[in-house]
This record gives sequence, C-alpha cells and structure tokens, in this order.
Amino acid sequence: MTDTHPSSGSNPDPDTDWNALPEAEFRAHLRRFIDENCPQHLRYVRRRLPPADTLPWYHALAAAGLIAPGWPRIHGGMELSPGRHLVFIEEMDAAGTPWLHDSGVRNLGLAIIAHGTDAQKQRYLPAIHAGDQIWCQGYSEPGAGSDLASLRCAGEIDGDRLTINGQKIWTTSGQHANHMFMLLRTERGTTAHRGITFALVDMATPGITVRPIYNLNDEADFCEVFFDDVTISTDCILGQPHDGWNVARSVLGFERIWAGSPRRARHALGELEAIVAQSGLSGDAVWQDRLVQAEFDTLDAQDLYRTFAELITSDGQVGTEVSALKIFSTETFQRISEWTLEAAGAEGALATDLDSDARSAQPLYTFFESRAPTIFSGTNEIHRNILARRALGLGREDKA
Ligand SMILES: Cc1cc2nc3c(=O)[nH]c(=O)nc-3n(C[C@H](O)[C@H](O)[C@H](O)COP(=O)(O)OP(=O)(O)OC[C@H]3O[C@@H](n4cnc5c(N)ncnc54)[C@H](O)[C@@H]3O)c2cc1C
Repeated sequence: MTDTHPSSGSNPDPDTDWNALPEAEFRAHLRRFIDENCPQHLRYVRRRLPPADTLPWYHALAAAGLIAPGWPRIHGGMELSPGRHLVFIEEMDAAGTPWLHDSGVRNLGLAIIAHGTDAQKQRYLPAIHAGDQIWCQGYSEPGAGSDLASLRCAGEIDGDRLTINGQKIWTTSGQHANHMFMLLRTERGTTAHRGITFALVDMATPGITVRPIYNLNDEADFCEVFFDDVTISTDCILGQPHDGWNVARSVLGFERIWAGSPRRARHALGELEAIVAQSGLSGDAVWQDRLVQAEFDTLDAQDLYRTFAELITSDGQVGTEVSALKIFSTETFQRISEWTLEAAGAEGALATDLDSDARSAQPLYTFFESRAPTIFSGTNEIHRNILARRALGLGREDKA
C-alpha cells in the first residue's frame, strides 16, 4: 500500500506519495524540515556559495528524500507533479535556502533516466543524489550561444574512444564541478542540429583547463573550459552518437518555467520599498507611482507564474507562451533594480549593504545581478522570436 505520510527527518519512506499529501500539509512538512535543517547563516545569501558551505544542506535534503523533486521515486526522487514541484520551489525560496550546485539533479538526472543505459544509471544517478558528483553544463561556446546548433567543440569517435578538442564558455560552477555534461560536434561538415553528441565528462581527465570568469559583481560564478586532446570512453556518450540534440532537449524541461520565477523581482521590490522609505521619497508622487507600478508588475508576474503552474499541472506541459513569463519576470526585476539604484542616490554607487529594512539591501549588487536573467535560459530577444513565430505565427518558423 502507498503511504501518503512522509517520515520526518532522515531515512524517508520510499513509498511516500508526496503528490497525495494535501498541499497545506506538504508545505508544513517542508517548512518544518527547513527550520530544523537549514542553518541561518546559509539563508538569504545572494550569491552561490561554494559546495563546501552548502554540501551539508544538500546531504540533509538527500537523506530526507527531498533532493530530487522531479526524479521518479525508484531513483530516490520525490516524483512531484509539475504543480507540486513549483510549491516545493516556492517554499525553498520563501525560506531563503541557498542555491546549490545541483545541475546534476536539476538538469541532467532526468536525461540519464530517459536516455541512459543501465550501467550509466548505476554509475551516475546514486552519485548525483548523494552529492558526490557536482555537474556543470557545457553547451555555450564563444561562437555558439543563442545559435547553439552552430557549436564547434569537436569530438572524434575512434572505436571505443572519444577525443575532445575545443572550448566551452559561461560554464556555471565550472570551477567546482567534478563532471560536465556537454555537447560536441562529432560529424564534420554537418550543421545545425545533426551530428551533435551529448557526452558525460569527468573533469579530472587529463587535458582539461578551467579558468574562472568574474561577473559584474566580481564573483567567479562561471568559467571558460578548454579541452586539449581529452580522451574518454564512448561509454560516456548519453543516447546515440550524433543524436545529442534530442538528449539536450529533454534537459530543458522544467527549466523553462523556473527561468520565469518572480522570486528575484519580489526580493527587489522589498529592497525598493525599503530604500524609497529610507531616502525620504515616500511622499513624492513620482516614487509613489513607481512603487505602485513595481508592486502591480510583481503581482502580475506571480499571477502569470501560477497560471503556468496550473497549466502544467492540468496538461503536464506548457506551450511556447511560457516565454512571455520569462520575459516579463526578468524585465520586471531589471526595472525595479534600476529604480532602486536611482532612489538610493549617491550611496547606490557603493557596493556595500545599505542600512535598511530589506534583507541586505545592496542596490548596485541587485542592479548588476538583474542583467544576467535576461541572458541565461535563452536571451529575451530569442524568447520574443519564439513568441512571435510560434505563439503568434508571425514570420517564418526557424531555429529560434
Ligand atoms: C549567468 C549566466 C550563466 C550561464 N551559465 C551557462 C552554463 O552553465 N552553461 C552554458 O552552456 N551556458 C551558460 N550561459 C550562457 C548562456 O546560455 C548564453 O549567454 C546565452 O545563450 C546567449 O548566448 P551568447 O552569450 O553567446 O550571446 P549571443 O547569442 O551572441 O547574443 C548576443 C545578443 O544578440 C542577440 N541575438 C542573438 N541571436 C538573435 C536573434 N536570432 N534574434 C534577435 N536577437 C538575437 C541576443 O539576444 C543578445 O542580445 C550562462 C549565461 C549567463 C549570463
């Protein structure tokens, strides 16, 4: 019989049916677990902390069966429905739990489950679940970002060996990861989506050089990664050789909604309200107008997010319209961050905490931080193309 009640703490019952729990009970369980297990010093930290700091929290989640919300239960996941998955994310966000180096769980796991051999499932899934393998995503290259299908990092298959030469860039967590899932051009003369292979690479393999890149906030959040005659076994190819594009598409999945989360805009709104009050601008009609606009836009973003959550719950999928959510949430975040910087006046130029009610109000930090979400997970221009062509039927259908 399936048990609907989770055990508290570690050693979860693998039969727990999280979707069958009433939502309020599910939320209460998560809140209790976070209160008991996520240390305060890790909460509401704006940047991604190194794995050494966050791994104990990762291990606590894993031990309680809460690390892999989207994975099937047979592999230690929670098998949450998409709607429940969003509830999970909401609770983690609301409590300020730290960003994890969890690309293995979030992006790769389901692709291994869908396309991996039994040996690959055994080799990778338990190690990802346990936090022993930290994965980064090696897709983008200096000449291949939005137009990812033009990637050139080369893989040469010779018998049971695959030799890699080339470069990846903007690799989040590249300096911390011990594994990379990557896309390679394995058939010369092919373009676009054909002739690409999806490979699983141990970063300790000789010939790999990782160089951190510092972002506007002076944090090394991503890297360049160079491959110089890196030779691995063809066992490390996920799916069929030359068919990696199809594997990569299955990695996208939930990412498309997650990218439109209003979480950042909500946080920025709290910061704007605090800085406006602190700067004595609350009585100014222009600022009152902006505050109302910022609040309404954030509420709209939350509403849109919920709407897509409900859609995904009832249909199991969302259409290309979800691009509107990503555009609106990320641009609301940017707009609010620009107003906050303006309201902070000369002090806004300081890269330090301003004394305010908002948790660690740092207008300049937020302003810089708000640039990235309009670029990653597909730039907003690309999402506009998707909306124009696929949702509105304008122009011709192409690779955007
Ligand atoms: C914080 C952050 C983390 C990232 N992490 C990773 C990661 O872990 N792994 C990884 O592989 N990549 C990662 N990326 C890279 C990201 O996927 C790319 O930056 C993104 O796909 C854009 O590619 P690009 O930078 O090459 O810009 P380009 O594609 O060169 O685009 C440059 C500009 O031209 C515009 N443009 C391009 N094509 C069109 C078009 N057809 N129509 C209209 N406008 C267009 C773009 O919108 C953009 O404004 C990350 C990026 C950021 C910012």
